[in-house]
Amino acid sequence: MKREIVSKLPKIELHCHLDGSVSVETLLKISKKTKLGLSEDTEQLRKLVTAPENCQNLKDYLTCFDVILSYLQTEEALEMAALDVIEQAARDGISYIELRFAPTQHLEDGLTLVQVVTAVLKGLNAGEVQYGVKSNALLCGMRHDEREKIEEVVQLAKDFQKKGIVAFDLAGDEAAYPPKDFQETLALANQLDIPLTLHAGECGCGKNVADSVTMGATRIGHGIALKDTPEYFELMREKNVLLEMCPTSNFQTKTVDSLADYPFRRFLDENIKVCINTDNRTVSATNLVEEYMKLSDWYQLTYEEMAQLNHYAVDGAFISEEEKAVLHQQLDEQYGKLNEKEIGH
Ligand SMILES: [Zn+2]
Repeated sequence: MKREIVSKLPKIELHCHLDGSVSVETLLKISKKTKLGLSEDTEQLRKLVTAPENCQNLKDYLTCFDVILSYLQTEEALEMAALDVIEQAARDGISYIELRFAPTQHLEDGLTLVQVVTAVLKGLNAGEVQYGVKSNALLCGMRHDEREKIEEVVQLAKDFQKKGIVAFDLAGDEAAYPPKDFQETLALANQLDIPLTLHAGECGCGKNVADSVTMGATRIGHGIALKDTPEYFELMREKNVLLEMCPTSNFQTKTVDSLADYPFRRFLDENIKVCINTDNRTVSATNLVEEYMKLSDWYQLTYEEMAQLNHYAVDGAFISEEEKAVLHQQLDEQYGKLNEKEIGH
């Protein structure tokens, strides 16, 4: 595949963290505007918020976020951050994106949960107006938080349902806090009719993926560890689960050590649905075009397969059937045009 063509083709992204994706340039703008007095040296800051190629593990990778979060504690900062990620999405040729964030991580300077969510949604709406990229947001509960605090976020997702918040997720240290610890919380989300996508199988085991699906997740963040537990493949097919794979991030967090171990092709061959995402544009120093180019390098991914991955993403997106139909049609048209031109030769 060619980068300039991949850039222009319409794409859907479902797994992108607001904090991990806000650009260094915008962090600096935030610092100046809100007189935070934090680091104003671009390269120094970039170093602090970019994960090294060789993190020891997921926990290592997550430390970059502490620096970023110190910038994202005001309404203005959150709005600017959300708008910034939409601008990046537009550059990537994204037509629809689901951006996720953990509201409890933005309360240090006195914001309320409602103020946090409202500010992010304001930034997303501004992004749609300015860049024409449609978006919704997902709320993450942090695994290390107390149960009451996480359930407050579930309730918050309910309060903002149909106002831009479309699902709930569990993020953070999966190894220390496996999905089975959250049975009651997830039951509450199910009871409130809030769709679930859960981080699982990123550093833990395949059983975490199966447990998450059994507890109601229709999508899984990463799901890489599933590769070692083929006994759960049938469950994934039966429940029509979508795995949100994030190639660059998956290598950084040591989910796999070698390309031969990365289960992208294997999952597709097993008829397990996957889609491609950045996870964290800034922390992982990537963008969505780059992720597809990696797949092109590694697996000789074709435009046809890229179209299929995006159709899977649309199927799994937390939007109405009507909205899905519009996106499917856009993909058919744009990738179809390409087929006439490219594959004809
Ligand atoms: Zn993630």
